Amino acid sequence: MNCSNINKIVKETIRSDIQLQSVYSISNADNKCIKLDAMESPYQLPDFVKKEIADIVFQTPINRYPGVMDNTIFELKSKIKENFNVPEGAEVIFGNGSDELINLIIQASCSPGDTIISPWPSFTYFNIAAKIHHASFIGVSLDKNLNLDLDSMLDAISKYSPKVVFLAIPNNPTGGLWSKNSIQTIVENAPGLVVLDEAYQPFTTHTWMPYVTQLDNVVVLRTLSKIGLAGLRVGYLSGRIQWLEQINKVRPPYNMNVLTISVLFTLLKYRSVIDAQTAKSLIERKLLACALSKLPGIHVFPSEGNFILFRFSGKKSANEIYNLLLNKKILIKNFSGMHPLLDNCLRVSVGTPEENLIFVNTLNEIIKFI
Ligand code: PMP
Repeated sequence: MNCSNINKIVKETIRSDIQLQSVYSISNADNKCIKLDAMESPYQLPDFVKKEIADIVFQTPINRYPGVMDNTIFELKSKIKENFNVPEGAEVIFGNGSDELINLIIQASCSPGDTIISPWPSFTYFNIAAKIHHASFIGVSLDKNLNLDLDSMLDAISKYSPKVVFLAIPNNPTGGLWSKNSIQTIVENAPGLVVLDEAYQPFTTHTWMPYVTQLDNVVVLRTLSKIGLAGLRVGYLSGRIQWLEQINKVRPPYNMNVLTISVLFTLLKYRSVIDAQTAKSLIERKLLACALSKLPGIHVFPSEGNFILFRFSGKKSANEIYNLLLNKKILIKNFSGMHPLLDNCLRVSVGTPEENLIFVNTLNEIIKFI
């Protein structure tokens, strides 16, 4: 077969807007790196849990589609509800990560030209997923202190009548937690669905989960990625059946694989192990924020997530510092140039005590040097 025409056929076949779109960027960390860029938990599971997982994987029939031979998905849903305080009367559906659920929500809600709104900067995938589904994305600028600008949000809602409003609470990458009153006002004014994305909820005290059955236009999105299970790819969406039965229609039939399901059952038996790791990260977040704020020329933004955003002032350039850290095999996330409000900002995930110490000491050395 003649392949010389491939570029032409691709160009004429793939949507032109997709050809222009850039892919969601994932950094290429090697395993010698201290990896503090993606808000993963830095902790491994203890060996006895890993061994039990190995046995479970051994017994899992991977020749079968998930949930064909038994009621596993149904049972897993009730375990998740029980473990994560999903209220009576609310349903859950699973996603291959909450990324997938963001896609499904937009796919089920938006026809070409419909609008999605989110405060901005926030999770970049809201924007990418909107575009994939031909929706317009309106990012409503945060104020200069990186707090929610409620008036601008309400103006945008009234102007664009969005099908879906995404609110990441706490917000990524800024770490802020929007006030209960602001969220309630947005919920009351939004004509369509409001998705409360609680990816970082384990690191804060507040949650909207108890209210999910009391509000007609709200669903709560969660992920297990930030509490040590990022590689497993499990997100869940919780809400009233009227919303979930519609969104479920666009879900690929077997989006949760049998290994993930089996492993998750096992892991949920060890909630105390997972919770202890989360508690360690909370202590470390405080220590890390404190250590960073003592370094000269750095402003630390308060964070309710498992990460910290900070800005350099004066002649220090975040780009330069990011690259110098990378040379020392420390990978964090560089937000310079991504949005004017994030000018000269870097974001670091909370690591283990050892990783955080190396990071702060290395940063200190770099700052002294430039
Ligand atoms: N929502 C927010 C706010 C996030 O920051 C992320 C990941 N960084 C996600 C959702 C997606 O998480 P996952 O797909 O791993 O569940």
